[in-house]
Amino acid sequence: MKFIYRFGSHRADGSARMRDILGGKGANLAEMTNIGLPVPPGFTIATTVCRYYLRHQQMPKGLKSEVEQGIRFIEKVVGRGFGDEERPLLVSVRSGAKVSMPGMMDTVLNLGLNEKTVQGLARLSNERFALDSYRRFIQMYAGVVLGAKEAEFEKILKEEREGCGAKSDAELDAATLRRVVSRYLTKAQELTGQEFPQDPWVQLWGAIEAVFESWNTPRAVEYRRLRNIPDTMGTAVNIQAMVFGNLGEDSATGVAFTRNPGTGENRVEGEYLNNAQGEDIVAGIRTPKPLEQLSQEQPGVYKKLLAYFRRLEHHYRDMQDLEFTIEEGRLWILQCRTGERTPRAAVRIACEMAQERLISQKEAVLRIEPKSVAALLHPQIAPDAKYTVLAKGIAASPGAACGRIVLSAARVVELKRQDEKAKIILVRHETSADDVAGMARADGFLTAAGGTTSHAAVVARGMGKPCVVGCADLRIDYDTRKVFIGSKQFSEGDVITINGSEGEVIEGEVKMVAPELSREFLTILSWADRFRRLGVRANADTPEDAAQARSFGAEGIGLCRTEHMFFAPDRIGVMQEMIMAEDEAGRRRALEKLLPMQRDDFYKIFRVMDGFPVTIRTLDPPLHEFLPKSQDETEKMARRLGVSMDYVKAVVERLREDNPMLGFRGCRLGIIHPEITEMQARAIFEAACQAEQDGVRVHPEVMIPLVSDVAEFRLQRAVVERVAEEVFARRGVRVDYLVGTMIEVPRAAILAREIAREADFFSFGTNDLTQMTFGFSRDDADRFLGRYEELGILKQNPFDTLDRAGVGFLVSLGKRLGRQGKRGLKLGICGEHGGDPDSVHFCHEIGLDYVSCSTYRVPGARLAAAHAALQERTRSAGGGKR
Ligand code: PEP
Ligand code: MG
Repeated sequence: MKFIYRFGSHRADGSARMRDILGGKGANLAEMTNIGLPVPPGFTIATTVCRYYLRHQQMPKGLKSEVEQGIRFIEKVVGRGFGDEERPLLVSVRSGAKVSMPGMMDTVLNLGLNEKTVQGLARLSNERFALDSYRRFIQMYAGVVLGAKEAEFEKILKEEREGCGAKSDAELDAATLRRVVSRYLTKAQELTGQEFPQDPWVQLWGAIEAVFESWNTPRAVEYRRLRNIPDTMGTAVNIQAMVFGNLGEDSATGVAFTRNPGTGENRVEGEYLNNAQGEDIVAGIRTPKPLEQLSQEQPGVYKKLLAYFRRLEHHYRDMQDLEFTIEEGRLWILQCRTGERTPRAAVRIACEMAQERLISQKEAVLRIEPKSVAALLHPQIAPDAKYTVLAKGIAASPGAACGRIVLSAARVVELKRQDEKAKIILVRHETSADDVAGMARADGFLTAAGGTTSHAAVVARGMGKPCVVGCADLRIDYDTRKVFIGSKQFSEGDVITINGSEGEVIEGEVKMVAPELSREFLTILSWADRFRRLGVRANADTPEDAAQARSFGAEGIGLCRTEHMFFAPDRIGVMQEMIMAEDEAGRRRALEKLLPMQRDDFYKIFRVMDGFPVTIRTLDPPLHEFLPKSQDETEKMARRLGVSMDYVKAVVERLREDNPMLGFRGCRLGIIHPEITEMQARAIFEAACQAEQDGVRVHPEVMIPLVSDVAEFRLQRAVVERVAEEVFARRGVRVDYLVGTMIEVPRAAILAREIAREADFFSFGTNDLTQMTFGFSRDDADRFLGRYEELGILKQNPFDTLDRAGVGFLVSLGKRLGRQGKRGLKLGICGEHGGDPDSVHFCHEIGLDYVSCSTYRVPGARLAAAHAALQERTRSAGGGKR
């Protein structure tokens, strides 16, 4: 077995296709070599070695000699020797898994320096630079490999800076650095209890092991857990000749994206620092300069850099994220990878790349992760909102968020555990990889330091959360837990708003609105619509929801929960009157009052949905849900209805159920009280006739909930048909309509053939179907489902993602039997799963006609449906390529 793969000279041993073995970084270093980019020479130790090491706690036989050969290769290309006292070769040792895990694992730079080689390096360049590299190496190696606290070294550096009045490390002279190095060596020994290793080979093996070990640090494990990255993959190690961005003012280190990672704009976006090494940028401690400034400082290098960016984008056909170093005017590319971007940028980049013909429209659609588009629907500050901006920083990740200030990631985790709905803005001087668990739970981030590629910015874009960084007017006192923003003082727990689209920090809560869909997103969605087979409808209960649903591209309403109309403040009283009525006559009197209200709503919804079907479900929830909960409210209701409290208590007692979700609800209400269904049917058909007369094309579909037997359906259908005929006769108009049923009780799926003979359509109510198939209460199961997932009993929460094995089996069965009962029976789904990408795939695979989901999930469902269709085509074409 081959352990190492060389790159950086002529043809590399590997290529971009070998990510499994070389990791992302190694594969791209090989690929860049192969397309002629200037890459410092080096070699990659394969991921297989990491897996072996983690399993056996030792290196595989034969690795040693291969690594030695690798070092010989680098020595030959650069003309320096590893450990050579005259012309020392320094290397970097970096991790690089198949999937990028930025900042999660370890890196050691400037390896190969010791008391002797530092002098050789000084003679080759200059003493200041050599000592600067040495002190960096001691700190990094002691921290990463020997487990010392790096902050102890930072303390020494700060003291020395202050002692000589230097503002930044770049101003420290050689004499000071010599002192720093000597103090560092003493400190390293004190902290680790051993002499700092002087033998470069000992250093190298220590670093390789440390990189392997860093695969299993808690932060790396947490990062993988959040992103579903398998723990078994392991990391590669890249050992590469150092090139130096800290050789003086004509040297620099920088990072760049070939397009803007926040907005997607087709413009290079980057930053750099003169006389610095890569970690200085990522740490976000010094604020770097924008890349355009390089066009003035080193125009030749800048031009070359842009040409390389273009070449890489064309080669990889995607936006790239690069690290580069300029060593005394010579440009080196150290890394390239597909750039992380906000969902908004992903959309614009995919759309424009398709328009530039760099990728196909299909690829553009497939590049947008349906799950990520929820972030595009992040609230933004309302255009008419009035607010005062306390301070401005860099707009690092768009969208706005409002929440309480929290100063540590650990505290975010704790607060969210107490209250999942708490809104939190994590406010820090800068963030680091250790903060990721808290960041995953916070609603937005604000940092005082850092630029657009700082840790906070990159993580925020990856997570699709609003973020402002580099806010110079922000000061945090972690000891007193006070925050100073502009001229104001805040305490942890005070509420602020951040606007990640503009970089603003605002006091208190600000009015927000749902964002408009961008032109590029609408374009991508229109392409998606051409590829998908599944219809996409919305679950919408009000005319406003319906209008929003249309603007998101819903092709009708798949579920209008009529009871939601009864909860409005002006209606709940009438509903209560109906529930409290002594007899049918009393109920009818109340229903008469509800009729015009429902009719008005339905009319407006039909208008909005002109030409599209509207599925209206008859009353579903148990009646006690409409009654007041508190004593005070109950007394008010009794007074309003002119009944005694004893009477109210008696009704409440009569309605009380031990298992209300399995109780008097759904079609059972309409069967026991047909007058309720009658009123609802009347409201539907009167509204439909009126709309039809007003030129609207109406397609009402009346849906009966919670049916478990065809006889129930038959009874309810009869009521609906009778009322429809009455209304048509009275109005002198007819409208086409359907009467169908929800399939949400397991028995209905089993008896679907019989039900289908009498129903015009089925809509799978997978919320209740999941509840009843598992016997898990949909309102309370969260108490144990989290633990079930941890234990691996369930892979996902079955209320979020359809359980294919059980609930999915019943849906398939219902579909098959339903179509046996009636050929071409129309089939949809309207449980929450209709907006979940995995479940949408399932619905496509089994051949449903449409999915229906909450309004804000409609765009994601359109995309997911297109993905399902395109991936099916690829599979049936037998190809693996998109
Ligand atoms: C369902 O049960 O899946 C459904 C859509 O109905 P509801 O959520 O209103 O019970
Ligand atoms: Mg239901």
